[in-house]
This record gives sequence, C-alpha cells and structure tokens, in this order.
Amino acid sequence: MQLLDRAQIVVIGGGIIGCSTAYHLARDHHADVVLLEQGKLTGGSTWHAAGLVGQLRSSASITQVLKYSVDLYRRLADETGLETGWKMSGCLRLACNEDRWSEYKRLATTAGSFGMDMHLLSPSEVKAMWPLMNVDDLVGATFLPTDGQASPSDITQSLAKGARMHGAKLFEEVRVTGFDIEDGTITAVQTSAGTIACEKVVNCAGMWARQIGAMAGINVPLQPVKHQYIITEQVEGLSTDIATVRDPDRLTYFKEEVGGLVMGGYEQNPISWTVDDVPDEFQFQLFDDDWDHFEQHLVQAIERIPALEKTGVKQMINGPESFTPDGNFILGPAPECANMYVGAGFNAFGIASGGGAGWVLAQWVIDDEPPMDLWVVDIRRFSGLHEDRDWVNERTLEAYGKHYAVGFPHEEYETGRPRIVSPLYERLKQHRAVFGSKLGWERPNWFAPPGMEPRDEPSMGRPNWFGPVGEEHRLVREAAGIFDQSSFAKFEMAGRDSAKALEWICANKIDKPVGRLTYTQLLNSRAGIECDLTVARLADDLFYIVTGTGFRIHDSAWISDHIPDDLDARLTDVTEAFGTLSLMGPVARNILQAVTDDDCSGATFPFGHVRQIVIAGHPVRALRVTYVGELGWELHVPINATGDVFDALMRAGAVHGIRPVGYRALESLRLEKGYRAWSSDITPNDTPFDAGLGWAVKLKSRTPFIGRDMAEKAANSVPLKQLVGFTIDDPHVVLLGRETILRNGEFAGYLTSGGFGYTVGKPIGYGYVRNPDGVTRDYLESGTYELVVAQEKVPASLHVEPLYDPAGERIRA
Ligand SMILES: Cc1cc2nc3c(=O)[nH]c(=O)nc-3n(C[C@H](O)[C@H](O)[C@H](O)COP(=O)(O)OP(=O)(O)OC[C@H]3O[C@@H](n4cnc5c(N)ncnc54)[C@H](O)[C@@H]3O)c2cc1C
Repeated sequence: MQLLDRAQIVVIGGGIIGCSTAYHLARDHHADVVLLEQGKLTGGSTWHAAGLVGQLRSSASITQVLKYSVDLYRRLADETGLETGWKMSGCLRLACNEDRWSEYKRLATTAGSFGMDMHLLSPSEVKAMWPLMNVDDLVGATFLPTDGQASPSDITQSLAKGARMHGAKLFEEVRVTGFDIEDGTITAVQTSAGTIACEKVVNCAGMWARQIGAMAGINVPLQPVKHQYIITEQVEGLSTDIATVRDPDRLTYFKEEVGGLVMGGYEQNPISWTVDDVPDEFQFQLFDDDWDHFEQHLVQAIERIPALEKTGVKQMINGPESFTPDGNFILGPAPECANMYVGAGFNAFGIASGGGAGWVLAQWVIDDEPPMDLWVVDIRRFSGLHEDRDWVNERTLEAYGKHYAVGFPHEEYETGRPRIVSPLYERLKQHRAVFGSKLGWERPNWFAPPGMEPRDEPSMGRPNWFGPVGEEHRLVREAAGIFDQSSFAKFEMAGRDSAKALEWICANKIDKPVGRLTYTQLLNSRAGIECDLTVARLADDLFYIVTGTGFRIHDSAWISDHIPDDLDARLTDVTEAFGTLSLMGPVARNILQAVTDDDCSGATFPFGHVRQIVIAGHPVRALRVTYVGELGWELHVPINATGDVFDALMRAGAVHGIRPVGYRALESLRLEKGYRAWSSDITPNDTPFDAGLGWAVKLKSRTPFIGRDMAEKAANSVPLKQLVGFTIDDPHVVLLGRETILRNGEFAGYLTSGGFGYTVGKPIGYGYVRNPDGVTRDYLESGTYELVVAQEKVPASLHVEPLYDPAGERIRA
C-alpha cells in the first residue's frame, strides 16, 4: 500500500495502545487516521504479554478506564469478527499477613466505592475455588469476579481490524525517523517511506516513545525493564476457567493457559534494560532466559502450588516493558510540543488498560482537553527532573520493586533523594525535619521532637507521627508556625493584555486593582476544574501566579495553551527565583510587624492583598492569604534571601514559641477549614458548583471565560453531587480517602480526602454525596450517614459548613 502524503492524525506504533487509539479515533470521531508501525503489529511489548486483565486502581477515573477495556474486549469480536480471547475468570488476591489483610479490606471498600463487588474470602473458600493451591499461610483473599484474561495479540489484531473497518489506514514496515517542526508545532512526520503532513501526532511507540519524543524535543520519562514469566506444561487437575491469582506476599502471579499455568512475578531486585535508545530492530525478540534471576519466583510459586514441582516448563518469556517512576502510565499532550500526544509507559498493565486508554486518549486528542480526571496518568505530572534518564531509571526500579509491597498510607519513595532542596533544608534538618518529596523537592512533612527518631514508621493504623503533627497543628491554631513552601510553582504573566488573557482563562475576576489577589479555578469547556490557584496583581501588566508544587507543568501548560493568539501576554515560570515562607497563626501579625517597617495592620494590609515589604533588608512579596484557616501571610522571598528571612522570623517569633511546621499539619489544618485540594476534592470531573465554590465564579459579570456556558448551566440547576464534610466520633478510625459514603444505608459516594483534625479531635473526610435526582441542602440534611472504612460501617456526622471557623473574623481582620 502506498503511504499517504497527508493525514489529520498520525498514530505511531502498532502495539495495543496505538491500535486502540486509532480504532477509537476512527470509530468515535471519524478522524482521518494513519497508523505507522516500523515492524509488524504487536511486535514490540504486546505480543509477549501474559494477558492478565485487572481493573481496580486507586483512582476512580483510571478504574473506569480499565472497566471500559473489559467491556470492549467482551464485545469487540461481535463487531470485527476477530476473537480477543477474553475470559472473565475473576481474580484472587492473596493475603499472608495482617497488614496485607488491612490493605485488602480497604481495597474492597474502594472497589465498592467505584461500583465493583469485591469479596473477602477465607482460606477455606480459596481452597474450594482453587484446590491445587496451598492455603496454609493465608489470612484471606479478595475476589473480583469481573477481572479476567485475554490474548494480547488477538485483542490488538481485532482492534486493528476495527480501526480499518472505520476507515483508519494502518501501515506496517514504515519507520518514523523524524518530524518537520515549525514554531513548536509538528507539521509533518518523516518516515522510511516518505513524509506525511499532519495536524496531530500520537506517540504510542511503547518503550521507543522515549526516543520518538526526543525527536520532537519532548520528554517521555519511561524506562524499559526486563520482565519474566514462564508457561508450564499442563497441570493435572487445573480447570480451564480457574481464576487468575495475584500472590503479592510471594511476589508472584498466575494465569491458566491451555491447561497449564503462566507464572510471573515482580521481584524486588528488577533489572532494567538500556537507559540509551532502544534498538529499532528489537521486533518479536526476547532476552535470554535468566533462570538465576527467576528462581526466586519459582521457589515461591512451588510453595503456593506444589503441583508445579512436577510440572515441566514449556517456555520462558523474558521481555522488555516500559515502566515509569511512579508506576502509572503516561497520557496526554506533551507540554514541549503543541500537537504531540503520548500514550506510553504502561507498567505491565497495558493489556488491561489498552481498550480504555485508547478511548480516552482519542477523545483528548480531538478535544484538546482530557475527557475526565486523568491527572494521575497525565504527562504533565512530570517536570525537568524527569529528563535525567539515570534518575528515572533508579526511581522506576524502586517503583517496580514495590509493585507488590503492602501499600502503607503516606509512604514516600526513597531513591534519587535529595534532589531539589530549598535554601532552608539544612536548617530544617537541624529542627529534626522528616522530609517527603514532591516533584523532586524535599519538603518537611513533620518534625520529630527530641527523643524520637526522625523517620516515618509504616503503619496501617495510627502512625508514629500522629502526636508530633498534633503539636504542630496546635501551634498554628494558638500562636504561629512557619511552613517552608518554597516548592510552590510560581509564574509571572506579563504583557499589555495579561489581564485580558487571565480574565478569559480564570473563572473568578482577576482584573482588580494592583495589590489585590484572587483565588480562582480554571475551568475546561465542561466547567470541570482544571486548575486551582492564586493570582496576585503586581502591576497593570504583571500578575504573579502561585500553584501547588506538583501542578507546575500541568498548570503552566494549561495557562499557556489558552492565551488567545492575538493577545500580548506571556507566561514565565519563576519557581526557582523565590523561596516561600508561610507564616500562619493568630500572632502572625505581631511577628511580621516585628521584622518589617512596612505597615502590616489590617487596615493597610487587608486579607486578599499583596504588598511588597522589606524583611531583613530583602524585598518580599507578601500575599495575605491562608490555607490553614488562620491569620497569615505567604512570603515570597528572593531565593537566596530565604534563610535570612526565616532566621529573622524565627528570632522575632521566639517569644511566641514559633517553630517550623510540616505538610502533614498543613493537611490537618486545611481539612478542618474545608479548603479544597485539587486532584482529590476538586478535579476536571467536578464543577465549582458541585464543590461549593460557586462564589468564586464571575457569573454576575458579563465577561466571557472558558467554561462559562456550562458553568451557567451548572449554576442554574440542582447539582447531582455536592462536596461535604464528615466527622467520626471515634478518634481511632483512620480515614485516608475512597471510603464509601452511605446515606440512609445506601451508597451515596466516596471520600476524596481523609485525615484527622486535631482541633476538632476527630477524623475528617470530604466527599461528594451523589443523587441522580439532585442534591439539595434539604436532601443532605435529611439523611443519616455512615462511612464504610475497611469494610466496617461507622456512623458519621455531616458538615455542610467548615468544621472550624472561629478564626474567620481574625483572618479578615
Ligand atoms: C513479560 C511481560 C508480561 C506482561 N504481562 C502483562 C499482563 O499480564 N497484563 C497486562 O495488562 N500487561 C502485560 N504486559 C504489558 C504489556 O505487554 C504492555 O503494557 C503493552 O503491550 C504495551 O503496549 P504498547 O502499545 O504501549 O507498546 P508496544 O507493544 O511495544 O508497541 C509499540 C510499537 O511502536 C512501534 N514503534 C517503535 N518505534 C517506531 C518507529 N520509529 N516507527 C514506527 N513504529 C515504531 C514498535 O515497533 C512497537 O510495535 C506485560 C509485559 C511483559 C514484558
């Protein structure tokens, strides 16, 4: 077939992800699609996958994506005539210790929250279901009946056929070799068979996505890692419809295949492949069998299924798969190049994800905005740090090695640290800080008091830092604390039309006098919340924008992408230019006034304002704002002066007992005050009206802004869900998020945030109460609530107003 010289969209890669994306682009959007595969379809990682298909993830949206895959695999053959090998065998997950069992009880609750029925089974029930299994060491197991298995190559061929049936053109033996790029936009794809002009490119090149991305100057932070499994001869007595098994405490998994077993594992000492480019010729190839490395799995597998000892091995598969530094795949528009999208880095669940990932990626490519909350897989969660392939390799191996580890709450990665530190790092260490890391930055989570070892101890119950964080919390409520928030992402928007551009991008009114600051959401066309940030007006034509550490690339890309072409407005990232010290607490003004000659009185420096003041001889951008529900200032300090300003504040605050305070206290404080966190409480799935933030949407003005039409609709109708707070009287219950909300005993939603409020002395959760007939205040208040926590029902009190507000007047004073 002659290669075309033009297409609307070029998809690169004929594995399951490329074929699924092409299928959905053609089927759902009638797009003019060309798919290019350098070898034959499936020849990369897809052909040798084991084919287990699980669905449950910790994100509701990603679970929905995986559920979609299952639904598609079940019915695809009816459409294309090509079978997918789908078998709904269900999946058992085994627990061999109490921590794992606690994890599973929470997992089963999460499954219920996301609409899936996961059962908890006793060892004898497992034995009845899987007679060949040794269950002596089991505490129990979960069973998800709707999980299953499929044939990776067959699904892919079926998707490819479906794509062709809907008009997509698929070319094999055509290698992409480069791009024509003008003004940061790809205009054509260069290939071994000629050049194709196009409007958009979707990079689904598996482990080659890294080097394809590099050809266009974009970073796809994935790392090929060797992954092995064996296929055994027939196992006597093994039923062909037996459930797949995950045995994480023994690091192994199993799947039935033609009467034998597929058995593989996630070892804690994985072996990565190259940090250099992957050879193009690596088609339908495997690495040599590595029995020495695999032996650890074999030993565990035989203990679990003794019949394996006498069963021959038909074949070992040792193939490469792309893994990522956080174990989630990579989807969406590359921030470095306006029209390249990526779908890669599938961490050995690309078969499970393939159908759904292609579905949402296709929609994203067409609309230029994600169709749902896809933040955990969004390529914009990475930053410049992830251009370092060695760092990515090290962190990815840690993530792989932890794949089957018990997921303790609040656990931090250990490798590649410290990477980015604030100027206060050494000082905070002196204060016995226990650091976490976010987008490469070391950030103090809490401070260990003398006599206590400064480190997190993993726990499924109340953690070792519970007490010290409570002390930090109380200090902020009663006197003042300093948070080092230097990792905040910071931007400047400059230019004659910057106010006009921001008025279009922000849902709240930001075109206010110089010196004012505004808390605002940035909405997508569905009025879903894409960003949540603060905008300070420094001059007529200069704005300072502050957002969360992790959202740096995401938010800057969203803002830059939405500046209308004809306006004079430019966004610059100034994150590293400023350290940020948040001075918070009822005596914050006394402390601040003691270190500056500038007037910090409520009359001169009211809430919601920004002023340039001088502290210790340094110019400081002081933002009168709070995320903890107390009087306070965010002090943005030239980065090299951060230490001087910190020292001055600590000296002046000594009489009040001031201390540095960490992020875990911040979380507890904000939960009490009901401040929303983007990516958990508020996401692209939620409008400001669902989230109780309608007051921050400028519907009264006539100004057009992105999402206005849908925001008006939302404002004028009864919402189908409302974000509310809950407390539980028993202080020992641990809320983490994703617990199920029951209203009058019926499913009503799930928690988006959970934690403990030390001032109210109770566990606190936030979540959306949902009702297809609408959620009014009456509806909310007429219900009786329980939360399901690790499968136990716990009575809960509803809170429509903030749980803690006595400081409301003080904040504004
Ligand atoms: C041993 C093993 C077991 C696995 N088991 C499972 C499992 O049980 N369940 C599960 O869900 N997942 C499993 N996986 C993971 C799964 O195989 C992958 O996630 C999935 O196949 C990735 O698909 P892909 O389309 O992203 O990549 P690939 O299948 O690698 O496709 C990328 C394609 O891009 C092509 N390409 C690259 N460069 C170019 C270029 N320059 N021009 C044109 N084309 C190019 C390649 O030739 C390749 O065909 C397993 C993986 C391994 C290694």
